[in-house]
Amino acid sequence: MGEITIIYDNRTARDGLYPGWGFSALVELDGTRLLFDTGGDKIVLEHNADALGIDLKGTDYLFLSHEHCDHIGAISSALHKGLTVVYPDSFSAGFKKRIADEKLTGIPVEEPIEFSPGFRSTGELGDEIKEQSLIVAGKDGPVLITGCAHPGIIRIARVATELSGRPPSLVIGGYHLGSKTDSEVEGIAEFLKRLGVKRVAPCHCTGERAMNLLRGSLGFEYIDVKAGASLEI
Ligand SMILES: [Zn+2]
Ligand SMILES: [Zn+2]
Repeated sequence: MGEITIIYDNRTARDGLYPGWGFSALVELDGTRLLFDTGGDKIVLEHNADALGIDLKGTDYLFLSHEHCDHIGAISSALHKGLTVVYPDSFSAGFKKRIADEKLTGIPVEEPIEFSPGFRSTGELGDEIKEQSLIVAGKDGPVLITGCAHPGIIRIARVATELSGRPPSLVIGGYHLGSKTDSEVEGIAEFLKRLGVKRVAPCHCTGERAMNLLRGSLGFEYIDVKAGASLEI
C-alpha cells in the first residue's frame, strides 16, 4: 500500500500552500518514506511540508532526479542523519563532497538499480542533461515518477517498461513538453497509450498547452496534480 503526495509544484491544489517553480513529492510504500527531489526554495518546501503534516527529517531516502536548482535547491531542508541519498553519478564533485561531509550514505546511480524493495531507478539517462527517474511498485502496476524528463518522456517510459516487464500504470511529474508542437504532444500521447499507460499526471515543467492537450486526449485517465495532491498507488 502506497501513496504519493506532491509537496512542491508550480501550482497548488488548495489555500495555505505556496506555489514555486520546481518539484518535490513524498512517496510512501510499505513503511518506506522517500522524498523525490526537493524543489528550489527552502521556504516553500518547509512551509508546504509543515502544512501537509510531512516530517522532512523522517524520510529514509532522498532521490534526486537531476542537478538543476528547481529540483535540488532546497536540499539543506531535506538532509538529516541516517538518510540515504540516491543521485545520478554525473552529479558535481561539490555535491558528492557534501554528501560525504555530512556523513550520509550515498548511492551514485549509473545503471538501473532496485535500491530498496519496490523502488527502482531507471539509471542515468540523457545525453546533455543526465537524469534518473523513479519506478515504484504500486498496487495497480509500476508508477513512473519523473523530475523534468529532460531525456524525453518517451525514452524514459520505454526504459521503465523494459525494466518492469510491463508498462507504467501511472506517469507522474514533469513531462517537459513546453517546446513541443501540438502534433508532437499528440504523438507522445499516442505513444504512451500504445505502450499501455493507464493514467497520466503531468505537472511542473510540462507546459500549460501540453497539459491541456493531454487532458483532452482520450484513452487514458488524466489526473490534475498540484502541490497538496495525494494519490494512492
Ligand atoms: Zn531540469
Ligand atoms: Zn524542473
